[in-house]
Amino acid sequence: MTRPRILVVGAGFAGVECVRRLERKLSPDEADVTLVTPFAYQLYLPLLPQVASGVLTPQSIAVSLRRSKKYRTRIIPGGAIGVDLKSKVCVIRTITDEIVNEPYDYIVLAPGSITRTFDIPGLTDHAFGMKTLAEAAYIRDHVISQLDLADASQDPVERASRLQFVVVGGGYAGTETAACLQRLTHAAVKRYPRLDPGLIKWHLIDIAPKLMPELGDKLGSSAQEILRRRGIEISLGTSIAKAGPEEVTFTDGRVIPTRTLIWTAGVVASPLIATLGAETVKGRLAVAPEMNLPGDDGVFALGDSAAVPDLAKGDGAMCPPTAQHALRQGKHVADNVIASLRGQAMKPYVHKDLGLVVDLGGTDAVSKPLGIELRGLPAQAVARGYHWSALRTNVAKTRVMTNWLLNAVAGDDFVRTGFQARKAARLKDFEYTDAYLTPEQVRAQVEGSGRPE
Ligand SMILES: Cc1cc2nc3c(=O)[nH]c(=O)nc-3n(C[C@H](O)[C@H](O)[C@H](O)COP(=O)(O)OP(=O)(O)OC[C@H]3O[C@@H](n4cnc5c(N)ncnc54)[C@H](O)[C@@H]3O)c2cc1C
Repeated sequence: MTRPRILVVGAGFAGVECVRRLERKLSPDEADVTLVTPFAYQLYLPLLPQVASGVLTPQSIAVSLRRSKKYRTRIIPGGAIGVDLKSKVCVIRTITDEIVNEPYDYIVLAPGSITRTFDIPGLTDHAFGMKTLAEAAYIRDHVISQLDLADASQDPVERASRLQFVVVGGGYAGTETAACLQRLTHAAVKRYPRLDPGLIKWHLIDIAPKLMPELGDKLGSSAQEILRRRGIEISLGTSIAKAGPEEVTFTDGRVIPTRTLIWTAGVVASPLIATLGAETVKGRLAVAPEMNLPGDDGVFALGDSAAVPDLAKGDGAMCPPTAQHALRQGKHVADNVIASLRGQAMKPYVHKDLGLVVDLGGTDAVSKPLGIELRGLPAQAVARGYHWSALRTNVAKTRVMTNWLLNAVAGDDFVRTGFQARKAARLKDFEYTDAYLTPEQVRAQVEGSGRPE
């Protein structure tokens, strides 16, 4: 008898937790486990702003997939570009651009999310996202190159535009990004004696009336106060109307000369979900509390790409797209896959939110663990302690801790590597949003009647 094939798509928080649990709980002759992932690491996304600002090296948050005693999963290096639920086949584009059909008996969809964009002129051509390791490394180089170029320029207009930076999105990703990068330019400008530090200006804007509303009024105001004290101009109730290569127009009519627009205004589920042609909730795959797709045997989805009912909250709420949920859902979905494999009952996912930590760089932070409001050093200790303990391997923990200590003692050298300087840098170039098939193309590929380009 052949063993059942379990295919996990995506090696993020949800996918890796699921695979590790399957490896631990299933004996090798019970099922074959395969993982599809374009990268050979699990990215610890919450620490991405610290990579952009140079506090951490990129390697320290790229956690190895193969460093595990129980590791035995077959890894396909590539991305899933379509799923045909009827014939139980996942279409994969490998990293060498070959298209392969991978049959499965059970599929766990955990491809996460991509940056959400709107129909704003110039946005997708001129904005950078903060969702991938390449984006974080690119933004760091880009920001340092603005200082280098402003320093070399004799033109005051060019200088002024290179030294203004705009971050859109007042959630934790945008706020941490603006805060960490402002610290970078604040410290770096000391190495550029010809530059007037007063010309450096960071803008953080959001269409919502508050930054990080999940923090509550008091803690949210504290975060705003910290950022304003550091010179970050916060504009709420504001978005952008237009983006160009050398300026950005805000919806309140202001035109900001800038070469740096960082867009972190939310996420949407991976385009892979749309290829299934199944029911979605705001783009996320609609699943049962057990994280299976009702009516389709052996299909599970979780993390940012799935609308998992939040039973702890009730009232028809969906789990928010956070690492906290993705990680726990990963373990839980593995248990449900095993239960279904063994003909046992699956259990619904329930998790009560543990709170939020927001690292604003240095000793600035706000945190709300278990509803307790913390600011400054205690908040920072909780934020870093939480992230540190959530890193999966001891070697990743050691790298991160060493980086933090080194940065605290010796600071940053603000080195611009230039690795990606001449590469296209649009959102789709980093997040591969145009790689996916339509449901019709998926069918054609599976039936062998057409090979998508
Ligand atoms: C800057 C930033 C800061 C954040 N801070 C926090 C925080 O402090 N706390 C918190 O709880 N959450 C935070 N989040 C949110 C959190 O990171 C996400 O909710 C979490 O990563 C979701 O986990 P996931 O497994 O669903 O997706 P991901 O972790 O994004 O993993 C998805 C994986 O799938 C891969 N993939 C994508 N498409 C395909 C495909 N077609 N085929 C195969 N593989 C694919 C990706 O490469 C990736 O490895 C932050 C996010 C960002 C961007």
